Amino acid sequence: MLSAIEPERHTAHQTVYFRCIAGCSAKHSLFDVIYTCPSCGSLLEVHHDREPLKKRSATAWKQLFDSRIGTTKWPYGSGVWGMREWVIPALADENIVSMFEGNTNLFWAERLGQQLGIPDLWLKLCGNSHTGSFKDLGMTVLVSVVKQMMAQGSSVKAVACASTGDTSAALAAYAAYAGIPAVIFLPAGKVSTAQLIQPVANGAHVLALDTDFDGCMKIVKEVTQDNSIYLANSMNSLRIEGQKTVGIEIVKQFDWQVPDWIVIPVGNLGNISALYKGFQLMLDLGLISRMPRLVAAQAAKANPFYESFKTGFKEKINVRAQDTLANAIRIGNPVSYEKAIKAIVATDGIVEQATENELAAAAAHADLTGMFTCPHTGVALAVLTKLLKRGVIKSSDRTVVISTAHGLKFTDFKVGYHESRLADVTSQYANPAVYLPANADAVKAEIEQRLGH
Ligand SMILES: *Cc1c(COP(=O)(O)O)cnc(C)c1O
Ligand SMILES: [Zn+2]
Repeated sequence: MLSAIEPERHTAHQTVYFRCIAGCSAKHSLFDVIYTCPSCGSLLEVHHDREPLKKRSATAWKQLFDSRIGTTKWPYGSGVWGMREWVIPALADENIVSMFEGNTNLFWAERLGQQLGIPDLWLKLCGNSHTGSFKDLGMTVLVSVVKQMMAQGSSVKAVACASTGDTSAALAAYAAYAGIPAVIFLPAGKVSTAQLIQPVANGAHVLALDTDFDGCMKIVKEVTQDNSIYLANSMNSLRIEGQKTVGIEIVKQFDWQVPDWIVIPVGNLGNISALYKGFQLMLDLGLISRMPRLVAAQAAKANPFYESFKTGFKEKINVRAQDTLANAIRIGNPVSYEKAIKAIVATDGIVEQATENELAAAAAHADLTGMFTCPHTGVALAVLTKLLKRGVIKSSDRTVVISTAHGLKFTDFKVGYHESRLADVTSQYANPAVYLPANADAVKAEIEQRLGH
């Protein structure tokens, strides 16, 4: 039987397709249910042939993106779909599942920058997004492709992922918006209420299994084997296409100027690979003429990429990830390792780590200048502080720190810090609430003491 998706399989004429990152020559349709190279098992990447894109000049691309993003015009107001031709051009309008994600604020962290001795410090608040983390950028793309696959008669009936945090929240929200069933696999008893509640609220089928995260991953792979349920985990490289818009968006927000440094917290290494991929595309198409230097920031409790970097990437070092406050980057065997090496090497980048105490202090310090940082952003800020002290990042350098999630998703971390009860952390900036009787004199005395009179 000739299926409705047959025309999409003629990849020979396609200019955007999956290819193997290890160099196998086959092209695969983006609308095939395929996660890794069938020949060698390596990760795939979405490749965009450059020639068709070069038909438009760099200036024309800039004008096009500037004219779209932030407007209400469907779907171009989205930070992701405003760059539609660079993301997944083969999607039909009606299959794009967008809640106008991206286009997040990049703001001048003037006071924190002054205190750290780096006046040109900027924070990119990717957590000011639909589900509170940058994962929305990837999920809008993945769920859109699934919607088109389903519209074209694919056997896919649902999407699934094993995750305890931001990935499942984003998948559940975008699937609900599209009306596609989502199945979320969690390790029972190992996730907080906050991590559980977003997919529950969005109507996902939330399955708490009597195992750990790796055990969930094993089950989800088995359950998705017959291709009726589409796997949305990190090995799926469609998500990278949405995530790569962050770097492009930052440059756009600086009127197409490239910052000197971008610091980003990393776990599975998809996000930093995406950042590099966006910059490479801008470079190839002449929108920019140089790369920023990328800094991958790891939690010391889950630092395989840092350990590998120290060997000059001679070998891939995996670690047993330990508990860390930065739980979204608690990964010992990162999926996008090879892609991330390229990102670091090609940008003369650096990998650095932060202890629990350092990440908590950096987050609390930033909060005292008006932010509300998640622990992962704390990792990035702690690493920035180290590189400044070491003189690697100079005080005159324009530096962007990517804040990957909203602090409100991590209130346990905040409360624990200010109540001075986090393991391995000295709460030097603790600012607990003061409990007083309802007595004006007692209140005045307390305020005067605080103000130092
Ligand atoms: C997923 C995530 C990261 C890390 O991204 P990777 O692609 O896994 O390296 C960092 N911060 C937050 C908040 C995340 O959810
Ligand atoms: Zn291959």
